[in-house]
Amino acid sequence: MNLFEKSRAVEEIFLELEKESRQFHEEAGMGCISGCGFCCANPQVPATPLEFLPLAFDLYEKGLADDIANQLANEETPGICVVYRSNPADVTKGYCGNYSKRGLICRLFGASARKNNKTGLKELITCKILKAEKRELFQKVSDRINTDMEIPLAPAYYTRIKDVDEALSSQYPVNQAILMALELVLRYKFYQEAEESNQD
Ligand code: SF4
Repeated sequence: MNLFEKSRAVEEIFLELEKESRQFHEEAGMGCISGCGFCCANPQVPATPLEFLPLAFDLYEKGLADDIANQLANEETPGICVVYRSNPADVTKGYCGNYSKRGLICRLFGASARKNNKTGLKELITCKILKAEKRELFQKVSDRINTDMEIPLAPAYYTRIKDVDEALSSQYPVNQAILMALELVLRYKFYQEAEESNQD
């Protein structure tokens, strides 16, 4: 599989996750609070270069890949996700600037579960804001995902993307993962275009 095919394989996985997540959200009614960017405002969001290949290809197609890669390469410490558009008055309020190409972690958070090794019970992966502001619903949904409600399982999705490319599935702070994805795409495109011009 070349890099572009890997990116398409990741997008296929995202499509399946989206179907599962939509069903969960419709049933659970436990979506993020409108305008909340609390999770995106954490520079330590753990992400893999692989899950950001679709974003990196998209930024390349929009002519933004070089500039953003340079911006990220110059960060002294990993900053807040470069795609995040925050409210200047409150960094925890904002929105994703490229929602359709967001990473796996962004799709799983608030819409997936993991199994507790000791109890064997599924636990909702969500943030402290939702736990506090929707306390009763959180409890109800936590019970139902162990009885009659389907929910995507995060570890299964991580295994699936690892199957696409294990080497690109290590986790880094989000901007570092995006930078690595951009560098891979820039290199891939450089060689692809050089090859095409040799054939002319
Ligand atoms: S890609 Fe979008 S959803 Fe994911 S951390 Fe960045 S701003 Fe948030």
